[in-house]
Formats: sequence, structure tokens, C-alpha cells
Amino acid sequence: MSGSNQECVFCRIASGQVKADRVLETEDVVAFRDLNPQAPTHILVIPRVHVASLNELEDPDLAGRVLMAARQVAGEEGLAEAGYRVVVNQGSDGGQTVFHLHVHVLGGRRMTWPPG
Ligand code: 5GP
Ligand code: ZN
Repeated sequence: MSGSNQECVFCRIASGQVKADRVLETEDVVAFRDLNPQAPTHILVIPRVHVASLNELEDPDLAGRVLMAARQVAGEEGLAEAGYRVVVNQGSDGGQTVFHLHVHVLGGRRMTWPPG
């Protein structure tokens, strides 16, 4: 884990250098709408510090903060009762394309299982 990485788009969103439609900001976490939404609500929750993926995450408190922020934004989007999906794509087989840890919060439609 390290600080900010200038080559990382999510670090640049966290620092405000790249614009995003932000829905939540705390000391440790930022949440913003996905550029290419896969559901009526599709929000990404990231730690402010650069952590490349779940495999690199060392801080369990930060893990908890990211997950609790995901629950908070889902609640604020009105998804708590109907339900929603929280996803972390890890590495190549997991479908990860941006190597700064992020939790997807998807809702506003019925999700299918198994995922593709
Ligand atoms: P992954 O496939 O790594 O789990 O998810 C990366 C997500 O980040 C994708 O859903 C993609 O649409 C989103 N994304 C990539 N670049 C940007 C960006 O610059 N801004 C925003 N808001 N979302 C992005
Ligand atoms: Zn980063």
C-alpha cells in the first residue's frame, strides 16, 4: 500500500484531478458513479490511498470502512430494502480493469446469478 499514484485514474479521482460524479467522501474513502454503468445505480467505492487490488490490501480497518461506505451509499440511493449487489473484481480472471481497489455497488434492477 502507498499514497497517491499519478498514473492511476482512481488516485486522480480521489485527489480531484480527474472529475467524477461523487456521492460520498470521508477521510479514507471516496464514492462516485461509474462512467459506464451496468445498472440504474452503479457506484464505485475506493480507498483514498492507492491499493492495487484486494490481494494487496493489508489494513482490515480500511477494508471495513470501504464496505461500510458501500452500504451507506446503497442506503442513500434507496436500495437498502429492495437489495443491491456489492462486487470486487480481483485480477485478470476476476475481470479487474482498473488496478486501484474498488467496490462496485449495483442496484435498481434484479441481478442475475451466476455472474458472467
Ligand atoms: P473493474 O473492471 O476494474 O472492476 O471496474 C472498473 C470500473 O471503473 C468500470 O466499471 C469502469 O466503467 C469504471 N471506470 C473506469 N475509468 C473510469 C473513470 O475515469 N471514471 C469513472 N467514474 N469510472 C471509471
Ligand atoms: Zn490509485
